[in-house]
Amino acid sequence: MVGGGQLARMCAPYAVNLGLTLSVLAESSDASAALVVPHAPVGAHTDLEAVREFASHCDVVTFDHEHVPQEILQALVADGVEVHPKPEALVHAQDKLVMRRRLTDLGVPCPAWAAVRSAGEVEAFAGQHGWPVVLKTPRGGYDGKGVLLARSLADAAPWLDRLGDGEELLIEQAVNFERELSVLLARSPSGQASVWPVVHTVQTDGICTEVIAPAAGLDDDLAVRLAGDALTIARELDVTGVMAVEVFEIRGADGRPDYVVNELAMRPHNSGHWTMDGAVTSQFEQHLRAVLDLPLGDTRARSRWTVMGNVLGGDYPELYPAYRHLMARDPGLKVHMYGKGVRPGRKIGHVNVYGDDLDALRERAQHAADYLQGVVTE
Ligand code: ADP
Repeated sequence: MVGGGQLARMCAPYAVNLGLTLSVLAESSDASAALVVPHAPVGAHTDLEAVREFASHCDVVTFDHEHVPQEILQALVADGVEVHPKPEALVHAQDKLVMRRRLTDLGVPCPAWAAVRSAGEVEAFAGQHGWPVVLKTPRGGYDGKGVLLARSLADAAPWLDRLGDGEELLIEQAVNFERELSVLLARSPSGQASVWPVVHTVQTDGICTEVIAPAAGLDDDLAVRLAGDALTIARELDVTGVMAVEVFEIRGADGRPDYVVNELAMRPHNSGHWTMDGAVTSQFEQHLRAVLDLPLGDTRARSRWTVMGNVLGGDYPELYPAYRHLMARDPGLKVHMYGKGVRPGRKIGHVNVYGDDLDALRERAQHAADYLQGVVTE
């Protein structure tokens, strides 16, 4: 796996269970996955020779994140390395303009959008679709960085000024959505694909803080459409491995529930962390199965509801005393910490709880996440 972050780390136990040798190309010897994976050479994902040397020891190469440059991916393919997802698929998770063009060609519902590079073009778009508008850097954004809600040309100006030669911004209509949903699936090179139940991702200040699986009260017809459309995207883009289709749930013109796609992620995804404890097959096991072209596992939920709470970096308490308190208070709680350095707002772990009473589960997940963050002390 190229990249030694928490996604590679969370694949490790499943690789162990299946008797697979997982290696990671880690950015440092204390990267999240390097702490638990025995074969973890240090090297940058942007260093062609480091990636090539790493890949020469692998049967299949896959990714902890989407930032490996296309030139490097193409070089691996040219070397005959089995790369999943392939560069032609991954580019749709790397570049939001490429993604918008392709999804629009496929007839997948998207917010109104355009590529812009000048104040005149922003003004023309806003004239047609109204203020505010959303501006996005096509590449390199995460957790809402690289996304700007612009209420006027003055807001947009600094972003336009920063554009280099030949660079463009993605501009989108600001969608008045009801909630954010995620459709997670896996697809293998031989074309088998399977979808998990659609989930509700709750965002706070642009960061996902909670996931409710399945999304409560989701319209049956919309759920079927979402699963079908996500499978179509996966097939048409020839996606291999796990993919998340992040969508906005909206009210259609006829008042019925409808959706538009926000973006694609091609790797195990935060919206799928609930599967570790809440589904028959976790996204991390499924990703390994998919990239190795093994038959995929059952994606059904194990219980009526699962709630995932992200633990963000805060005033981090000592883990051992925190565990004593949390584990005594809530024996059903499942804690997953990433062994990462603490920075405010950084995702450093998550908790899962599952059962029949959604309100109680949400309260338990929130409490545990807050406690691990140092927000509450009781
Ligand atoms: P990132 O790549 O950083 O995750 P996203 O494209 O997912 O960025 O945007 C981050 C958040 O900004 C979304 O979760 C959503 O809340 C908001 N957002 C993004 N695009 C739009 C839009 N067109 N209309 C309204 N809100 C949006």
